[in-house]
Amino acid sequence: MRDIYNLTYEKFSDYLFSIGEKRSKADILFPAFYRDNITDFKEASVKDSLSLLLKKEFYFGEITCIDKKCSDSADKYLFKLKDGNLAETVLMKHEYGNNICVSTQVGCNMGCAFCRSGRLKKVRNLETAEMVEQLLYVTKESGRKIDGIAIMGIGEPLDNYESVADFIDIAMYQKGFDIGLKHITLSTCGIVPKIYELSESRNPVNLAVSLHAPNDELRDRLMPINRKYPLSPLFEAIRHYSSSRNRRITLEYVMLKGINDSKEHAKQLADLIGDSKCYVNIIRYNSSEEDSFECSDFDTIMAFYDVLKKNKIGVTMRRELGASINGACGQLRADYMNK
Ligand code: SAH
Repeated sequence: MRDIYNLTYEKFSDYLFSIGEKRSKADILFPAFYRDNITDFKEASVKDSLSLLLKKEFYFGEITCIDKKCSDSADKYLFKLKDGNLAETVLMKHEYGNNICVSTQVGCNMGCAFCRSGRLKKVRNLETAEMVEQLLYVTKESGRKIDGIAIMGIGEPLDNYESVADFIDIAMYQKGFDIGLKHITLSTCGIVPKIYELSESRNPVNLAVSLHAPNDELRDRLMPINRKYPLSPLFEAIRHYSSSRNRRITLEYVMLKGINDSKEHAKQLADLIGDSKCYVNIIRYNSSEEDSFECSDFDTIMAFYDVLKKNKIGVTMRRELGASINGACGQLRADYMNK
């Protein structure tokens, strides 16, 4: 038996063809899965013999929600997967729409010094179906239309590229979730060859790069991936992506007190960006008692912001959605495991 939510429209059409059906049956079935949310093939308007056959071959997902924390601005879901592993999802409720932050792996191997997700080493990649189900469940449970997806929950999406690409395909399917390319953002710590692969792919979504340091010496310490792909090749890839997509790239920069937050760092960051088409998203560090890092003070953040502005770099500051419900990566899972 296979999970139906693992199959893109293309793959499902191929399957139908392989069993002697018309590919176009997918035009009936796919909207039934993703618009009408059927969970039994009998409910689809196809002949009984086909629905019986499908029932023998496929099932409709198997993640269960085991915890949910809500606040005015964000809801956080904890899911148990079929093998007992856990995955987290956050629904961010902005005035301008609902965005979902999807996890892509159980644990993470990138080892960023300040990130709680990485405390648990990668156990396995999430399947496409498990990402699709995060989206399905949150849509149903919240009763809201999801307007955008941030692929920036737990895990490194470019370390699970194929399954993430198929998930994007399904999220974009027009008679289903119908989420446009411009409303999907993938965040990576900077796996350079995969950034090129994404730029050539069928769905080159918006790219966000977790930068967090403006020089190799510091970035090597904070983010081990930098030792493999340092800033110079990373920025070549970023330039390539923005010119091939003709869109600006987001550079995420989490403010770590006394580590990466001086005016000097801001100037280095401005020089590093130069004329590349990027803007900086300044993120407040969300710390917990177990963390050795702290968030920079408000004044320090503002001074950092000013230097970037004076150097004509585009800057935004992420609102602190989710902080009140431990929205930062890996926290709900960690709380649950501590219980
Ligand atoms: N692996 C991907 C996506 C997951 S992390 C990546 O590295 O981009 C999503 C973002 O949250 C990254 O920018 C990450 O550096 C940041 N982050 C991790 N821990 C954080 C914390 N405690 N507070 C604020 N941001 C954090």
